[in-house]
Amino acid sequence: MEQAEERENVTLPFSKVVASRLGGETIALCYQCGTCASSCPVAKITPRFNPRKVIKLSLLGEKDEVISGDAIWLCCSCYNCQERCPQGVEIADVIYALRNIAFEEGYIPPIYSEFASALLKDGRIIKVSKFVEKKRSTLGLPPLKPTGVEALRKILSATGFDKLQKKEESR
Ligand code: SF4
Ligand code: SF4
Repeated sequence: MEQAEERENVTLPFSKVVASRLGGETIALCYQCGTCASSCPVAKITPRFNPRKVIKLSLLGEKDEVISGDAIWLCCSCYNCQERCPQGVEIADVIYALRNIAFEEGYIPPIYSEFASALLKDGRIIKVSKFVEKKRSTLGLPPLKPTGVEALRKILSATGFDKLQKKEESR
């Protein structure tokens, strides 16, 4: 039985929740042909990820399995699947919608949470080491400019990302 979600006093099945999110609109067009899976470079190297299966589980309402698992975080957003889907399912964007739901509900791999904290703090997901700075100068590259972290924080605040990340850090 499909898991449902209460929203403004209306209970929506999970597939409809996904379809109501930015990026998730086309999910119901899938007819499970498998073109996405056979086009996916990640599915070729690991059985832990199959975009057709992610879509199928979402359509069947298996919310917990989809958002608490690691599959949705393995997509590398190459868009091969999206270019080829005969039904016009925007698969990579559906996966972004699923990630957003997962993040809001407290499911995010620790590495992404660390990246998010660093982004809010320094404006970069990875700290630039002294080694890299030195290497740049030996290659004739200019020093990296400071990031516009204040502007970035404004964007992250306008989207509510900063609050979600702070909630995640306090878990
Ligand atoms: S290619 Fe499109 S229609 Fe076919 S399984 Fe993937 S998402 Fe569904
Ligand atoms: S966008 Fe994601 S799901 Fe689609 S082919 Fe690329 S890695 Fe696979």
